[in-house]
Amino acid sequence: HARRIEKVEKNVWIEFTRLAAEYKVVNLGQGFPDFSPPSFLLESMCNAIKGGSSMHQYTRAFGHPPLVRILAKFFGRILGREIDPMQEILVSVGAYGTLFCAFQALVDEGDEVIILEPFFDCYESMTLMAGGKPVYIPLKPHKVTGQSLTSADWVLCPEELASKFNSRTKAIVINNPNNPLGKVFQREELQMIADLCIKHDVICLSDEVYEWLTYDGAQHIKIASLPGMWERTITVGSAGKSFSATGWKVGWGIGPAHLLKHLQTVHQNSLYHCPTLNQEAVAVAFQREYDMFGTEESYFKQLPTLLQAKRLRLAECLKSVGLQPFMPEGGYFLITDISSLKVDLKDSSSKDETYDYRFVKWLIKEKHLGTIPVSAFYSQESRAGFQNYIRFCFVKDDSTLKAAEDILRQWK
Ligand code: PMP
Ligand code: GLN
Repeated sequence: HARRIEKVEKNVWIEFTRLAAEYKVVNLGQGFPDFSPPSFLLESMCNAIKGGSSMHQYTRAFGHPPLVRILAKFFGRILGREIDPMQEILVSVGAYGTLFCAFQALVDEGDEVIILEPFFDCYESMTLMAGGKPVYIPLKPHKVTGQSLTSADWVLCPEELASKFNSRTKAIVINNPNNPLGKVFQREELQMIADLCIKHDVICLSDEVYEWLTYDGAQHIKIASLPGMWERTITVGSAGKSFSATGWKVGWGIGPAHLLKHLQTVHQNSLYHCPTLNQEAVAVAFQREYDMFGTEESYFKQLPTLLQAKRLRLAECLKSVGLQPFMPEGGYFLITDISSLKVDLKDSSSKDETYDYRFVKWLIKEKHLGTIPVSAFYSQESRAGFQNYIRFCFVKDDSTLKAAEDILRQWK
């Protein structure tokens, strides 16, 4: 095998999705909705299928023209700038495809990439596969008194962040809202990152797949909208997350032509393009969202309203069994500290695994409840210090949440 795949063989999604299927769990693990996408999305796919023979053939490599045009219009309005649909957008196979193109296109052998812990795991493996060196900086929960813990309590130390930048730093990856914490970065935090990017001439990869999902009035700010950042930022989005259809695998990167053209080069020589039908259907759905933006009809408004209630429901249930959740300001997930639970895990065979991995496996096998260990979102070096948290996905039908509640309440 090639050296570039060393150190990336293990994958938390492969491992826990397999276990969840094997033990037929109530699944609050992998992040996907178990309810139907909105009917207008399904209609747009039906119409695309019947839309003529060209819908079943190749389309433009860097993005189906109707889709890149509406993405340019949509995000141009949000960013307050004209976006060139042909040169400043790449549509790829999910946010994963776009991120992969970005790492391959921009990170060279030996380049350093700053990654904020906890991080969506693929940033690390994609850095390694590109020959880069991940440099980690943790968000740390600062000690708060009282009961209401939120994802906003996880913060960066400004001096520590500054110390990570040097002449070998090529890029920093941020995930806003963050997976797994649900942290939505405040303007001052983004400005601190932006100032360092500008000072050290560093690229920012901003993964914003959960951009519409903010709660309790939290405001999502695009780092690309800060002065001096458009020129150095690739913003990544996902139709799967935007329209509750994670299996559709349509994602995009938006950024200045001088960077985007390199992502296009990787894409044309690897994936070539994302399926035409999916792109056509997503284009129609985005046009609808463009027309409805800010109104009660907008799915980008309805979905967070729906999830706000689900998130509260799960958090209340966790509290009632003595688990303290960090209330997420955004995204699909919430994490909770499990150190107060005294469980006899009985599995002497896997002592080399962190406590959260062993705990989640026990929860799956003994209680048939699926979650994800949070140390999976940390580097090898930092894992030991963060093995007392597990992640729950609350983007689930009420019947699934009810089934999870029954398990938690019976067991306590
Ligand atoms: N980024 C983050 C933060 C994610 O949680 C995910 C998982 N959905 C992705 C990217 C990948 O998105 P997609 O399914 O569009 O490839
Ligand atoms: N992004 C999803 C999550 O965090 C799943 C990613 C995957 O299954 N590869 O749960």
